Amino acid sequence: MTFPTDYGAIIDRIKNIDPIRYGKTRNYIDGDVTFLSPYISRGVISTKEILEITFNRGFSPKEIEKFIQELVWREYWQEIWWSKGESIDEDLRHLQIDVLYKGMPKSVLAAETGVTGIDQGIESLYHSGYMHNHIRMYTASLICNIGKRQWYIPAKWMYFHLLDGDWASNALSWQWVAGSNSDKKYYANQENINRFCHTKQTDTFLDRSYEELAQMSCPDQFIADANLELKTELPPRNDIQIDSTIPTVLYTSYNLDPNWLQDVKANRVLILEPSHFEKYPVSQKVLDFIMALSQNISGIQVFVGEYKELVERYSPGEIYFKNHPFTRYFKGIGTDFDKIMPISGDFSSFFKYWNKGKKSVQW
Ligand SMILES: Cc1cc2nc3c(=O)[nH]c(=O)nc-3n(C[C@H](O)[C@H](O)[C@H](O)COP(=O)(O)OP(=O)(O)OC[C@H]3O[C@@H](n4cnc5c(N)ncnc54)[C@H](O)[C@@H]3O)c2cc1C
Repeated sequence: MTFPTDYGAIIDRIKNIDPIRYGKTRNYIDGDVTFLSPYISRGVISTKEILEITFNRGFSPKEIEKFIQELVWREYWQEIWWSKGESIDEDLRHLQIDVLYKGMPKSVLAAETGVTGIDQGIESLYHSGYMHNHIRMYTASLICNIGKRQWYIPAKWMYFHLLDGDWASNALSWQWVAGSNSDKKYYANQENINRFCHTKQTDTFLDRSYEELAQMSCPDQFIADANLELKTELPPRNDIQIDSTIPTVLYTSYNLDPNWLQDVKANRVLILEPSHFEKYPVSQKVLDFIMALSQNISGIQVFVGEYKELVERYSPGEIYFKNHPFTRYFKGIGTDFDKIMPISGDFSSFFKYWNKGKKSVQW
């Protein structure tokens, strides 16, 4: 799978979704998934826009409910992030139990777990910057529940490589698998993996019943630690031109919407804050993807530095930005991202959020 960065190609991808087949096949590695997450995560398109385009193609809400629900999962995790803030970096609802190790297992980093479906998924993550949802769940379960590792560092490893890296969907899904954001740990056995990955492996350490998996000790191949170094090489710091008599529109690696405020005469600046990428590093492939997407925004300049430095150095006039949990300290005129469900707050389960949200939309 490839991920074009030209805006027209992204919109074409939305128009070619088959949301009905999606509901039936999304769990299979070759199922009809949309491959849209890199563009949603980077703020190029919104969940609401995807749904509007899909409705305009004649699909009814009832026949594509599964598809809508998945889009809303992303919004749900974002809402949790807004209400919990940085505490999503720690065990959210329960302490993760049965943890023996921290860090990243060497065999997973090397894509040598011995489970073909997972190893191929990890190779494909390195190669394409994308991993199918089921493989993300299998990998997280293997590391946290079979390998008995704390979720945080492996989550950062996966986030580092994902073009669609979204800290809410990432951290909260890892915690969901590890049982610290759910009521039980998620396990997948070999039979399950074979079914959804079309493999035929037997006699692996996962070729057991679910009761046995939950009781088993960590297999030897998951004990050795990897030497994990996650670092983003940002472009060199540079000078930009700001006309302080006109507004400055700020873009980030989470907001690369080329249509936003296009009719306003403004300075347009993609800000890459070193402190952010130090805490949440991304690979060169991801950074290149972000830079390429930013080219859809006409007149964009790239500023490598902190928000405070930008303000002190250039005294920009009015600043416009999109509200995001990572940039709560931006000051000026903040706009919320478009959502399908116009509700906010801390909901204890997805279905509470979904049921309340459904009452507030008119389809
Ligand atoms: C351990 C783990 C880590 C994850 N990390 C990320 C991450 O960093 N960034 C990210 O965007 N998603 C993450 N996800 C969620 C999900 O795997 C991806 O959103 C999905 O696989 C993206 O591929 P797609 O666009 O083809 O999805 P599709 O299946 O085509 O879904 C359409 C859209 O619905 C949303 N969606 C679908 N499934 C989920 C889900 N389970 N949770 C939240 N939203 C969903 C996404 O916006 C997606 O683009 C993670 C899931 C797990 C289990």
